[in-house]
Amino acid sequence: MVAQHLSQKYQDAVYRSVEEIQAEMISFLQDLVRIPTINPPGENYKAGAEFIGKTLHEFGYETHYIAANGLAENTPQHPRINVLGRLEGAKPRPCLHFNGHFDVVPAGDGWTMDPFAAHIRDGKLYGRGVSDQKAGIAASIFAVEAIRRAGIKLHGTVEQSGSVDEESGGFAGVAYLAKQGWIGQDKTDYVIITEPTNVDRVCLGHRGVYWFKITTHGRIAHGSMPHFGVSAIDHMADFLHDVTHGLKPVLATRKTAVPVEPAGSRFASININSVFGGQPEEGTQTPCVADRSGAIFDRRFLSEESFEEVRGEIYAMLESLQAKNPDFQYKVEDLMVVHPVHTDENCQLVTTISKNVEELFGKKPKLTASPGTYDQKHVVRIGSVAQCIAYGPGILNQAHLPDEYCLVEDVVSAAKIMALTAIDLLGADPA
Ligand SMILES: [Zn+2]
Repeated sequence: MVAQHLSQKYQDAVYRSVEEIQAEMISFLQDLVRIPTINPPGENYKAGAEFIGKTLHEFGYETHYIAANGLAENTPQHPRINVLGRLEGAKPRPCLHFNGHFDVVPAGDGWTMDPFAAHIRDGKLYGRGVSDQKAGIAASIFAVEAIRRAGIKLHGTVEQSGSVDEESGGFAGVAYLAKQGWIGQDKTDYVIITEPTNVDRVCLGHRGVYWFKITTHGRIAHGSMPHFGVSAIDHMADFLHDVTHGLKPVLATRKTAVPVEPAGSRFASININSVFGGQPEEGTQTPCVADRSGAIFDRRFLSEESFEEVRGEIYAMLESLQAKNPDFQYKVEDLMVVHPVHTDENCQLVTTISKNVEELFGKKPKLTASPGTYDQKHVVRIGSVAQCIAYGPGILNQAHLPDEYCLVEDVVSAAKIMALTAIDLLGADPA
């Protein structure tokens, strides 16, 4: 027997309701884009949170403003304020939580229009942060409102959060919400992060990240008599050579089975993010052998690689250089470690949203993973919510570009898919 999905019964009514609410949804999105919630430094977060919160309140949610108290980045000048709304159904569980970050990266150069005017041309809504990811916030809020206006009552509970600082790691945003218990396995069953996935893809997780700094040490001497010194830069050069010609080719042979998009990111990788040493570039140079050099590395690892192996590989390279040259002195500092996350593609959340994507578009969504991390790490690692995905209407490769846009019709389609997914996951009654 083919499993019957509840949402089939409501499909026509929900599609119609979303279409009826479209103008209101797009005008909400335009107004949200017009609030320049720029990160860094974290401008207008209070206005952004209050704008989202006001709409949630009007739609019947119990709303909470959650400032990241105790974190250094939460300052009087740039307060870190998140908003969370809860629309309790007949029962507290299951609880479906939609999260979207409302911080946007700076507009940058190259725009042919005002990045905060939210112009619509030829069905495209332009603005910084439209695709990444204010369109996702609009879609999820109006998806649930469309259900309500269609006279359908959800059994379970919906939550919607607008969070800050995703672009800078999410510590005052989703990580804070998870640490404070607002998102967690004891209350939350499913989390949909409304990051851009081109409306017809579902993102299951992301690769791991290991940022580290290596400092090499030497001994200062006069530059005309370098044989009296030990050059820390020469040591760094040896290590960089081994990274480029030894490690990189090895990493390029390690391919994950996880469907990371773009496909070129299915391999392990390392990027040398910066190199420094010797005397500062600006100002007068005096002849000296550099006694200190450093570099910062960005290693992206696969779920098939353990972090211990990833770090062990770096230490082994350094130890081998030291074995060849006892003057080779070094220090390693871990700057950031994010473990890979990957939601089971057979879980209820993924199969349900996939079914609803297929209903609308006539084909199954591509299940993908992201080369870089996003707030899913906090939901999974801190909140221990296993069923977490990213799904949203924005166009992934528009993120952070000049003239960033999102298709208006994609916002509408995503709202339809989100609404039916909420009905399937939470259960519903006709009014
Ligand atoms: Zn984003």
